[in-house]
Amino acid sequence: MERLRELESEIYKCIHCKACRFAYSGEPDKEGIGLHVGTLGNEVLYEGIVQSCPAGIEYGWEAYWNAGKMWIARAVLEGELDLKTQGQEVADVIFPCITCGLCSSQCENQIPTVEVIEALRAAVVEAGVPLLDKHAWMKNASVTKNNPYGGPKDQRTKWAKDAGFGDIINKKTKIGYYVGCTASYRQMNIAIATVNLMKKLGYAVSIIDEEVCCGSPFFRTGLIDEATRGMKRNLELFKDYEIIMFSCAGCYRTFTIDYPKWTKKPNDFKTIHAMELVSELIRQEKLVLKSHTELDGKIVTYHDPCHTGRHYGEWFKERIIAESTNLMLDMRKVSKVQDEWFEVPRRIIKAAPSVTFNEMYRIKMDSFCCGAGGGVRAQYPDFSIRTAHLRLDEADAVHADIMLTECPFCWRNLDDANTKYEHGMQVMTILEMINKYDLIEKFEKIPIEEALRENHAELHMKDKPRKKK
Ligand code: SF4
Ligand code: SF4
Repeated sequence: MERLRELESEIYKCIHCKACRFAYSGEPDKEGIGLHVGTLGNEVLYEGIVQSCPAGIEYGWEAYWNAGKMWIARAVLEGELDLKTQGQEVADVIFPCITCGLCSSQCENQIPTVEVIEALRAAVVEAGVPLLDKHAWMKNASVTKNNPYGGPKDQRTKWAKDAGFGDIINKKTKIGYYVGCTASYRQMNIAIATVNLMKKLGYAVSIIDEEVCCGSPFFRTGLIDEATRGMKRNLELFKDYEIIMFSCAGCYRTFTIDYPKWTKKPNDFKTIHAMELVSELIRQEKLVLKSHTELDGKIVTYHDPCHTGRHYGEWFKERIIAESTNLMLDMRKVSKVQDEWFEVPRRIIKAAPSVTFNEMYRIKMDSFCCGAGGGVRAQYPDFSIRTAHLRLDEADAVHADIMLTECPFCWRNLDDANTKYEHGMQVMTILEMINKYDLIEKFEKIPIEEALRENHAELHMKDKPRKKK
C-alpha cells in the first residue's frame, strides 16, 4: 500500500472525465484516413478521437477502462474497498490491462496512470490475493531459472554460440549488450540482427551469460520483490560497462526508468537502444542505406512499442514539468522533445530507399498498443492477440506490406496475430530489415558518445554519476 499512498494526491486529481479512453482526445477535428473495415469485419473510423484503451475495448465495463481503475484506487485508499476481503474482485479487473500508457498520455491532469495501476497491483499482491496462474508460473520460472520463460540458465547465450558470436560472451568492452529474455529464448533473430549490425558498423559489444530478467514483467504485475531481485543482480553484473545497449523496448525502459526509481539513485552506466545509434549515424550522414529488389515498392509502417515510445514521452514530460519554472513555455519544450524522440526510428525508415513509409493513424503518444505487455500476453492470451490483430487492421488500412517495430515482445505478438488472423503482412524490426536485406551502402563510424549526446533519455537523466573512464 505504501506506493499507492505515495500516489494519493495524483489519484485524487482524477475528475472522471474519461478522456483517457481515446487517442487524440483533444483533437476531435483531426484529419485521418476514414473508415476501415478490418479482416473480421469490425469498423474503425480513423479520424478525430478514437476509442483506444485495449482493456476497455475488450471488456467494455467501466472498471476496465482507466477512469474506473482510478476510482478503484481511490476506494482502496479510502477503505471503501478492502483488499483483504475484496482483493480478488479488484484483481479481476486491474490485471487485464496492458499498462500501455495511452490513458496517461491523454490525461490533461497529468496523472501517472500506469504508476497508479502498478501500485494497485502491488497492493493486491501484498494483501495476499493469490497470484494469477501464469504470473505465478513466470515468477517461479524467474526464481529458479532467472527468466520468465523457464529457459535453461546455461542456454541463455546459446543463440550467440550457434550464430558464431561466441567471442562476445563475458568480454570487457565499453558497450555491454543486454539481450533480455525474449531475444535470448524466443526471438533470437533480433539478438542476432543486433550483434551482426554492430559488428558491421564496427562497435564491439559484449553479452553476459549470467544476465537475468530485467524485471519488467514483475514491475508491471506488482511482483516487486522478484523485480528488484533481478534488478540488483543486473546492476551488479553490468556495473563495469560504460554503456548498456538494448534491442528490447521493455528492458530499455526498465533499466533507464525503473531502476533509478527503485534504487533512488542514477545508474552507474549510460543506456541506449541500438536503433538510436543507427539513427544518429543516419542523421550525421555517416550511414547511407541502399535499396534491395525484394523491398522495392513495398509499403512499410511502424508500430511504436509503448515502452520505448509513449512511456519515454511521458517520462520526459514528467521530468521537464518537475524542473519547470514556466510551465507554459516548457510545455512547448515537452512537445519538441517528444517529436524528436519519435523521429528516431522514423529517420531510419525514411532513409531506406526501396520502401514507402505510410504512417498508421494512431502513432507516437497516441499509438495503439500491440497487446503484449503488462503480464497480459501470458495471462490473457486471447485478449492480447486480439489487440495485436486490431493493430494490424490499422496497418492494413494504410496498405502496409511490412509492419516494422523495434521490440522483440511486440514482434512476437504482432507476428502471432498476423498468422492467426491472416493479415498476410511481414513483421520485422527495423534493424532486422537492414541486416536481412544487407541495406548498408556505406558508413563511417562515429564515437557512440555522439549518439548519447542526442539521446533524450541521457539528456534528462539528472545527477549522472558516470564514474567509469
Ligand atoms: S485519469 Fe485523467 S483523463 Fe482519465 S478520467 Fe481521470 S482525469 Fe480524466
Ligand atoms: S494502460 Fe492501456 S490498457 Fe491499461 S487502462 Fe490505460 S489505456 Fe487501458
